[in-house]
Amino acid sequence: MLLNKNDKIEIDIDSCGLDGSGVGRYEGMAVFVRCAIPGEKIRAHIIKAKKNYAAGKIEEIIVSSPDRIESPCPVYGRCGGCSFGHMKYEAEIRAKENHVKECFRRIGGLNPEFEETLAAKKIYGYRNKAQFPVRKDGDKLLMGFYSPRTHRVIHCPGCLLQPPEFEKILGVFENYINEFNVPVYDEESGKGLIRHIYLRKGTASGEIAVCPVINGKSLPAEDELVKMLTACCESIKTVVINENPESTNVVTGEKCRTVYGPGYITDTLCGLEFRLSPLSFYQVNRDQAERLYGKAAEYACLTGKETVLDLYCGTGTIGLTMAKNAGRIIGVEVIPEAIEDAGINAETNGIENARFICADASKAAEELKTEGIKPDVVILDPPRKGCAREVLETVAEMKPERIVYVSCDPATLARDCGIFRELGYETVKAAACDMFPRTGHCETVACLTRSFASR
Ligand code: SAH
Repeated sequence: MLLNKNDKIEIDIDSCGLDGSGVGRYEGMAVFVRCAIPGEKIRAHIIKAKKNYAAGKIEEIIVSSPDRIESPCPVYGRCGGCSFGHMKYEAEIRAKENHVKECFRRIGGLNPEFEETLAAKKIYGYRNKAQFPVRKDGDKLLMGFYSPRTHRVIHCPGCLLQPPEFEKILGVFENYINEFNVPVYDEESGKGLIRHIYLRKGTASGEIAVCPVINGKSLPAEDELVKMLTACCESIKTVVINENPESTNVVTGEKCRTVYGPGYITDTLCGLEFRLSPLSFYQVNRDQAERLYGKAAEYACLTGKETVLDLYCGTGTIGLTMAKNAGRIIGVEVIPEAIEDAGINAETNGIENARFICADASKAAEELKTEGIKPDVVILDPPRKGCAREVLETVAEMKPERIVYVSCDPATLARDCGIFRELGYETVKAAACDMFPRTGHCETVACLTRSFASR
């Protein structure tokens, strides 16, 4: 073994990953050091030594990087939410950009033109959604975020990424849980009632939805809870209880029951109004979502005649914001509440050329192909795991001129773009859009066109 646990080594850091770890080489072997920055020389204390790599923590910074800053967050490093708090934002953007390029190169074997990253204008307070796990540590009530790679909850009062109201709302839940002796969920035994507090705020509208996720059918004194919430924060427009009785890492269950307000909030995005139910997906950074959709529209290059297939459409946001420049929009989404929202969103905004289908993307694509639908442009915006291979194959068989692929995971994006190349589609350009400043997440949009050979 080249290195052993508890060794102390000096190492130059030359790159960094999305988890905020710096990477250096020790006699050729990669050593990952948490919070070390490219350009730094570090004395590292080895905490894990494997045959092919090692991990260490900083014992001393011998040469510090000009990109190093003090994180303004009191729980930075203990909470797993952020990974770039110790770096200037420009350095974070460089790290994310390099990561996306490397994914395209290594995983996809691709080298698209890389456009300037859409860096965020606001790096704190940008999130519109949080799901706080609720746990007990002895007698202590904890509501916050998980520490890195564990399910230990770190109490995070005043998280800098969230809207300020969220902290006040957590305060109400703390009082409510104590006053009414509400049993708190325990992951190991599967017992206890209250699991998560899921909050969403319309950044433009100011409206807030409060959604306690519970392991049961109802909460004690629900009327009292509603009174306490609405008295504390008048922006609360709805309270919805979500039932999740499963032993799972997935936060929300399938069933929602509205106990106050209409059961949804609205927000405006790209000049349109969107209704958002708790189970419907909505981009967590509204301001950056507008810029992301702007880039997607640029890549879609619509002239007013096109048939646009928007797969994984959520509440219809991407397709609906393109509808006035398209012939027609067909949206596909698997969550029924989201599809219901999408239909209403089209109606509210007076959009008549959109149709929505509630189905799995691969099944719907196959059926649309059989129906003889020939989209000119296909939008793909799948969850982190990317598209099923059948989706890629069916999309290619429909022979659209262009595919716009929006992705929150550069690795699966690169994999899928690599497969598209085999299927006759070339990734011509891509841009990263930083939807998640300070965290290790990175959004990318890519433009693929039908290659000459497949015509
Ligand atoms: N384009 C939307 C939503 C993107 S998130 C927006 O920008 O707001 C990805 C969406 O894909 C989610 O709404 C999720 O419910 C949906 N989804 C996940 N798996 C799916 C599948 N197999 N078929 C169709 N939709 C799916």
